[in-house]
This record gives sequence, C-alpha cells and structure tokens, in this order.
Amino acid sequence: MSFEKKENCGLFGIYGDAGAVEKTYLGLYSLQHRGQESAGIASSDGEFIQCYTGMGTVGRVFRSGRGILEKLSNRMVIGHVRYSTTGSSNPINSQPLLCEYSRGQVAVAHNGNLINASLLRSEYEAYGSIFKTTSDMEIITHLLAKPTHVNKSDPLGHVLSHLQGAYCLLFLFADRIEAARDPCGIRPLSIGRTKEGGYVIASETCAFDVTGAEFVRDVEPGEIVTLNEKGLSSRFFVKPGSVKPAHCIFEHIYFAKQNSFLFGENVHEFRKKLGRQLAAEHPVEADMVTPVPDSGTSAAVGYAEASKIPFEMGLVRSHYIGRTFILPDQKLREFQVKLKLAVIKEAVEGKRVVVVDDSIVRGTTTRGKIRSLRDAGVKEIHMRVSCPPIRHPCFYGVDFPTKEELLANERDLEQIREFLEVDSIGYLSLEGLLSCAALPSDHYCTACWSGSYRIPVDVASGKFSMERYQRNMFDDLPEGG
Ligand code: SF4
Repeated sequence: MSFEKKENCGLFGIYGDAGAVEKTYLGLYSLQHRGQESAGIASSDGEFIQCYTGMGTVGRVFRSGRGILEKLSNRMVIGHVRYSTTGSSNPINSQPLLCEYSRGQVAVAHNGNLINASLLRSEYEAYGSIFKTTSDMEIITHLLAKPTHVNKSDPLGHVLSHLQGAYCLLFLFADRIEAARDPCGIRPLSIGRTKEGGYVIASETCAFDVTGAEFVRDVEPGEIVTLNEKGLSSRFFVKPGSVKPAHCIFEHIYFAKQNSFLFGENVHEFRKKLGRQLAAEHPVEADMVTPVPDSGTSAAVGYAEASKIPFEMGLVRSHYIGRTFILPDQKLREFQVKLKLAVIKEAVEGKRVVVVDDSIVRGTTTRGKIRSLRDAGVKEIHMRVSCPPIRHPCFYGVDFPTKEELLANERDLEQIREFLEVDSIGYLSLEGLLSCAALPSDHYCTACWSGSYRIPVDVASGKFSMERYQRNMFDDLPEGG
C-alpha cells in the first residue's frame, strides 16, 4: 500500500434489524480502510434521532463499547468513517451531521466530493445562511431546508439535482433512511439483506460479509432508495440511462477491500487480471515476484501466475502504524517507510526481484521501499505497476497531491526509472487496464490518467476551499474521542 494516496469515506446504513447498531459498528469496522480520521453513528427510534461522532478510528470513537451503542440502539441506523477530501480533519466535520429544520431532524453521511459546494455555499451565505462545518456536505442540509424546496413533490430528488460531482449519501430521517448515488455512479454503494429481513446499504460489500447480510444489488446511478416500514422502494432523480456511468476504476485498483464485490466483479479477481495483463505487457527475467502489501498483493499473484516466476513475500507490512504516527521532520519521515514496510532480507538477498505495486503517486515512498530492498542486497529490481502513470489530480473524492507533485507529471519513463532507482519499470497501459474490467470501457472514470474529466471541474478548487476563516488546527493531532 502506498501512503501517498488516501481513502475517501465509508457509509453504512441499516433498517429493520434488531441488532442494527451492533451491525453498524461491525460494518464500519470493515470499512475502516476507507477512512480513519473520524467515525460516527446516528440512529432513530421513529421519533427522535441520536448521533455520536468522534475523531479517530471506530474502535477509538466507540471505545466505551456498550455504553454508547446501547444509547444508540434502534432499528434505523446510519454510520460513517471519514477521510477528509473537502474540509480539514476537524471534530466539527465528523459525520453523520445531525441537523434540525422545518420538517424535523435529519442526519446526513457522505462519500465523495461535491464540485459545486463552494459556489452553492457562497450563494447561501450571501442570503444570510450560517454554516457550522467546513465540509462540502453541509450545503445539502441547507438545500433541504430551503422553503421553496421543502414544498416540492420530491424535495430530496429536487435537492440532489442541484449537486455536481461524486456523491453517495445516506439520510436518516426520523421515520426512514434514504440512500442516493450521483448520476455517474462514481463511488460505489450497494444494497444487502440481513437474515432477519432488514436492509443494509454500504459503500462496499465487505461490510455485508461481517454482518451476515447477502448482496442484493447496487444502488443505481441517479437512484434514491428509501427504506421504511413498507420495505424498500426506489425512484430516480435523473432519467435512468440518460447519463453515462463513470465508476472510479481506482476503487478497484487500490481502495476497495479484496473481498468486496464492486462494479460487477470481485476486487481480488480483478486485481489478479491486472497482474496477468501487466506480465503480458512487461515481461522480464527474474527470480521472484514480490508485492508491495497489501494493495499490490493480488496483482502480484496474477503477475507470478502469468510469468511463471515464483511469488514470494519480500516486504512485510506493519499493521500497527496508523495515521497517528506523524514524524516531525523529513529525515525522520524517511524511517516511517522502513517501519511501515520491512524487508525480509533472507527472501530477497542476491535475487532479481519483480516488485508489483498498485500505483505510484509522488514516488518518494516507492523510492524509500526500493532503497530498503537495495540495502538488503537485492541484485536487480524490476518495478511493475498495475495502473498507468498518474498525471492528473482527482476532483471526485480521492485525495491525490497536486499535479506538480505527481511523479509522472512532466517525466518520461526513463526519468521515472532514474528517480525510483530501479533497473526497469513497466506500467500497465490504459487499454490493458480497461480490457480487464467487467463493464464497457466508457463506463469508468479514468481522469487521473487521461485528464479527461467526465464532470467539468474547477482545477483551482482544493480540499480547503471552504476554510476561509477557520484555521485547520486539528489535522496533525493524535486520535481522540
Ligand atoms: Fe477515480 Fe481517478 Fe476518476 Fe478520481 S480521477 S474518480 S481516482 S478514476
């Protein structure tokens, strides 16, 4: 896993299950890889909504265990884990966000990035609205509360038609849960059914496995799914099929868990296909194939299978160093890579090694890993990457650095090879990547490689575009409840 690109967020919602809050807790645990900055759960007893959020991982936020969960115990529950893509890592930006408006309470949880949030916010501020957070998601609550919107026949559908960008949303009203996905279906959102007959909605199906739920189907792009006492019902806020999908294929390459079923196929199997295609495009003579764990592992298995070069673990990842492990200067930060990824010297010494990684962003951490392998006496290092060179930032919910900071920005392959200090380098082609996918090529977003953004973006906007006054004081603080 590279430490240079960050997950977005994870959503979990459940309706009509006696163990709903415990299952939400477990579901959020299984989605923890999508965000570790804050976590929260909101639940409704049919009349009132309660919400508890905090900074840090799920285990940290709900560390008092049954005390908080018992207070939240209801049959209608939503939860969220956060990595900030808009707005800083700050307690005020924890989700779900609980608000009150003329129609009662609503708690909202979001995964994605709203491109026009800053513009909408400025418009509302001009008319006197006051905002509590610096997150892009708060604007949705203002849109919901606007008097001319609440009287529409479908207020939520009307509100969603104002949003641009990538969004999967969970709304908890006192009497129901509503789930929505943007018209391009950029981020994943799936529906499952529990053994007790309840419905579950989650960012990834790995959250179903842990709660004993069965996958039913995805929430379709442009769809709103309602869960209430009548069961599940659906409506569309854009005409189905009128917008071409743009699923984030990077979810498949890096973010999603290997046991998740995403955009029509299993993540592990997809990554193995990438590895096989990579071996076909960039063969090399070597003694072993080793992954950069964990997200490079499935592709390395595929590369080893196709090339008939033995798979071997040459790097081992420490799972005990999280975001809290922040070192104060660059010199010390170089040791961070060594602590997070240790080399198994006995496995690699004197060998010609193919190192398979899912992607390279800045390249500095990759170079750190390569240097560690050299120190361990590796004879040759052949870097293989299971996606094309990343040359463009993401505006749809993935926190890549700026274009200028990307390794492949204005560097050719030879310059990249020299920077990484490897004997050879091979990236998977975009055509090769798309040939491995289950859906037609034009159903995926590939903007971080191609620069072709399906939804027009303002390249000047950034993660902290709504932090005009509040200082970002909490980004570097350790986790806390
Ligand atoms: Fe995913 Fe890249 Fe598109 Fe962002 S730009 S949504 S990371 S494919």
